[in-house]
Amino acid sequence: MDGGRQHVGKADRYHFRIPMVKLCLEIKAELENVTDLAPASDKVTFEYFFQVKCNSCHEVHPKFVGVNREDKTEVSGGKNATANFVWRCGWCKRESSAKFDEKSPTIPYSADANGQFAPILTIECRGLEFVGFDPRGIWRCVGLESGTTFPEVDLSDGEWVDYDEKTELPVGVSAIESRWRRA
Ligand SMILES: [Zn+2]
Repeated sequence: MDGGRQHVGKADRYHFRIPMVKLCLEIKAELENVTDLAPASDKVTFEYFFQVKCNSCHEVHPKFVGVNREDKTEVSGGKNATANFVWRCGWCKRESSAKFDEKSPTIPYSADANGQFAPILTIECRGLEFVGFDPRGIWRCVGLESGTTFPEVDLSDGEWVDYDEKTELPVGVSAIESRWRRA
């Protein structure tokens, strides 16, 4: 850490000196007879789609960007430092980056949090902030009483419904919302 000093204009060459901010993604959902909602393949390949904002010019990138835990890109001037996401702002051309905290795996969203926001992941950002999240991709969850695994939960329509044969109950995930906050 460098005590948070900013080197305006040298941000690219001294990328690693841009202050690091830890952001936490929280989600909220209505779970029906299920628990432990999480990306189906989080450890390596799950692609999180985030909306990204440049901290230098405050421009928000028009498209959601894909970020996963496996891909690593070297940051400029970073002395072999890498990040999971390296982005050059199309407006001010500054480079910024984000990196998953390897010690903090994604936390499944539990039925205990039903209808309330709960943190699912932490990511370290330099020069950018994430401001949105699109839960596209395949998620999984588990029957609350039955323990039945539902390995293909698709939230791209905003909700998912199925049937748990063990308990003979409908299961579902709906009303998914997300927000970012400082960790
Ligand atoms: Zn910018």
